[in-house]
Amino acid sequence: MLASLRYYGDPILRKICKPITVITNEIRQLIQSMIAIMDKHDGVGLAAPQLGHDIRLFVLRNYVDLENDKWKLSEPRVYINPKLSFPRKNQVKEEEGCLSIPKLFYKVTRPDFVVVKALDLSGNPFTEKIDGYNARVRMHENDHLNGVLFIDHLDAKTRKEIKPLLREIKKKYQSI
Ligand SMILES: [Zn+2]
Repeated sequence: MLASLRYYGDPILRKICKPITVITNEIRQLIQSMIAIMDKHDGVGLAAPQLGHDIRLFVLRNYVDLENDKWKLSEPRVYINPKLSFPRKNQVKEEEGCLSIPKLFYKVTRPDFVVVKALDLSGNPFTEKIDGYNARVRMHENDHLNGVLFIDHLDAKTRKEIKPLLREIKKKYQSI
């Protein structure tokens, strides 16, 4: 499967992605590319449409707290056909960025806790209950599967403010 990073303005980023019915070798290869590209660009998550595939799949690494305010990233994790639910009402506002919208970082309000049900690389179902920034990463990546970008969550005033920046990104990456 061809796999190169897609940028803001590419119509694939606005598609509703299709569920995966069979985990083929091609999909396994795509997952390897996704992890490699995520790491290359210092991202913590990447969704299939960001590499040009409208299928319900994302990968991520967790932030793991260490002693003395240090942290590391976990081994990569794979989410196939994920379903998110939000049993708690609490919301938090924190900064986000996106590999498909380079150098744009804004604060986004999201629930602070999420339950994720998905299939792993072998097709086995699993459930996670996640809070903090790791929950945010899952919501950001899952949004990609529904054609939603983090900038869509910003208020009208901020969205207006970033319009010229988005236009620049679109222009810059259109030719790649
Ligand atoms: Zn993103």
